[in-house]
Amino acid sequence: MSRPREQVIPASDDNARMNAKHRRLLQTLSVVALLAYTALLAYPTLSRGAVDDEASPSGKVQRIRSLHEDPTVTSESSSATATLRPPTTVLDDVFISVKTTKSYHNHRLPIILKTWFQLAKAQTWFFTDTDDPEFQLKTNGHMINTNCSSSHSRKALCCKMSVEFDTFMDTDKKWFCHFDDDNYVNVPRLVRFLGDYNPREDWYLGKPSIQAPLEIINKEKKPTQKVKFWFATGGAGFCLSRALALKMMPVASGGKFIGTGEKIRLPDDVTMGYIIEHLLKKPLTVVDQFHSHLEPMKFIRREILEDQISFSYARNKDEWNVVKIEGFDTKYDTNRFLSLHCFLFPHFNFCPR
Ligand code: UDP
Ligand code: MN
Repeated sequence: MSRPREQVIPASDDNARMNAKHRRLLQTLSVVALLAYTALLAYPTLSRGAVDDEASPSGKVQRIRSLHEDPTVTSESSSATATLRPPTTVLDDVFISVKTTKSYHNHRLPIILKTWFQLAKAQTWFFTDTDDPEFQLKTNGHMINTNCSSSHSRKALCCKMSVEFDTFMDTDKKWFCHFDDDNYVNVPRLVRFLGDYNPREDWYLGKPSIQAPLEIINKEKKPTQKVKFWFATGGAGFCLSRALALKMMPVASGGKFIGTGEKIRLPDDVTMGYIIEHLLKKPLTVVDQFHSHLEPMKFIRREILEDQISFSYARNKDEWNVVKIEGFDTKYDTNRFLSLHCFLFPHFNFCPR
């Protein structure tokens, strides 16, 4: 007697149930195995990313530095791996302006041209108050005659700053960095430092030379009004992001910087602080690595020299305020810039081997 298929022994029902169970188990196991395999493949990438980008405090600096050393690596290629960071900054993103005057060309410019200018020849421009064919040649045409008066008057200084600002605005650079002609600029450090900030945000980076914000009386307002603001001392150098510079245009571009300076009757760097901190309400970010000769240079420890962005020098009576660094004889290298340069960049051909 043939039995209907449905009745085929219960054992085979059991078998079918077991088969289905096995299949599910096998499926689960293979999914688990697949997941484990994928995780193993991804692990080295994830772990390297973590070390480079977060876990190692120096990872970021090293990565930016190595990008600078390789001209073929662009900001675009790096942004593909670092999505949360501002686009990488390269030297060519920076406009470096140096304020000078005709009577200083001969004794202040040669040391700059011999040292740090060599590391940023295409990015550095000298703003002066005369035509000087000799230095025009020595700087590869990077002397700009502002036609401002060659005096140390407030108006003359604001006039130069105004031309510096307008010249920057005419470029497509992301950063404007101003220095005096008695500054030494640690170029690669400046570039690495700017790499930590986004030029599309508002940044006013520099160092004040006073302990409290400057307080002035605004006589234009009745009753007269007290105005308090910080400013970055020009003699230490400071930088502005392009985003901030664009917002400054209504009060600073096309010569308007001079008018603003005249109104408050204060020097160029103070006028800069007034415009940014008071008019635009954007705060100064204090950067300790900028140094003017208003602070004693000898207190900058040798171990941290490499980390500093700018240095300066001055002669107060018979005493020199200079960086304390061994190297060339003080008779030959009075302001210590040659020795400092060789300490930072020993491969230069004039440095002792
Ligand atoms: N400067 C100028 N015109 C002058 C005197 C100075 O443009 O008549 C510039 C000078 O080249 C330097 C800055 O202003 O970049 C500061 O000058 P200095 O170091 O002589 O004076 P400080 O203000 O530092 O005492
Ligand atoms: Mn000075």
